[in-house]
Amino acid sequence: MAPQLTDNYMFTIAERLTSAYDRIAKAAKKSPYNNNVALLAVSKTKPCDDIIAAYQFGQRQFGESYVQEAVDKIAQLDSYSDIIWHFIGPIQSNKSALVAEYFDWVHSVDRLKIANRLASQRPENKQPLNVLIQVNISLEEAKSGCQPDEIDALAKFIANAPTLKLRGLMAIPAKSNCYDTQIEYFKQLYACFDKLKTQYPDIDTLSMGMSNDVEAAISAGSTMVRIGTDIFGTRT
Ligand SMILES: *Cc1c(COP(=O)(O)O)cnc(C)c1O
Repeated sequence: MAPQLTDNYMFTIAERLTSAYDRIAKAAKKSPYNNNVALLAVSKTKPCDDIIAAYQFGQRQFGESYVQEAVDKIAQLDSYSDIIWHFIGPIQSNKSALVAEYFDWVHSVDRLKIANRLASQRPENKQPLNVLIQVNISLEEAKSGCQPDEIDALAKFIANAPTLKLRGLMAIPAKSNCYDTQIEYFKQLYACFDKLKTQYPDIDTLSMGMSNDVEAAISAGSTMVRIGTDIFGTRT
């Protein structure tokens, strides 16, 4: 079998990043939305050296899912001051202060209690924390994500909080290898985004698409894809 991008030692991170940028550009060109699609490199469980390799190749936006691991890495990479850190994992109440303090973006706000904590814990000397509301689009058993009919109340709170900045929506749909199923979920999230935009015309970010479904996400209007495995290799 030909080597796969996900074979950890077959390709360098620079090669895998090139291939990810390529894949995004091709999909964006074909998409009716013709969006600028940003790449969030998801570095969870991977060492700082891997982040530096991607950084040296020009990547600046990185996504992390585990608070303590992320905070350790952010501290170690302090001298790379133009890295933009995104928190994309579930947020427990007792970890919200660290998220508010260390990150530039958070994609996983799905309840008022957490939004409220982040708003009061965000240091006032920092830029407002960029917030995406996570929506449970495929009505999964998984606990993360609010229901679509809960978006409005959350958006209202976030938009009115001076230390937060509402940027858009995020979802992790149920995993499927079927393009039509993938697209169905992404279209539902796009519809929520479109509706929210009538009330908040400044929102600009629809975070959807991972290694497995980048093409479907971009063709349904994604503006930011979150790719881990295809850049850093499989996680153990
Ligand atoms: C791990 C993770 C990703 C990256 O997934 P890959 O399949 O490795 O590309 C994207 N988004 C979220 C929320 C994640 O937790």
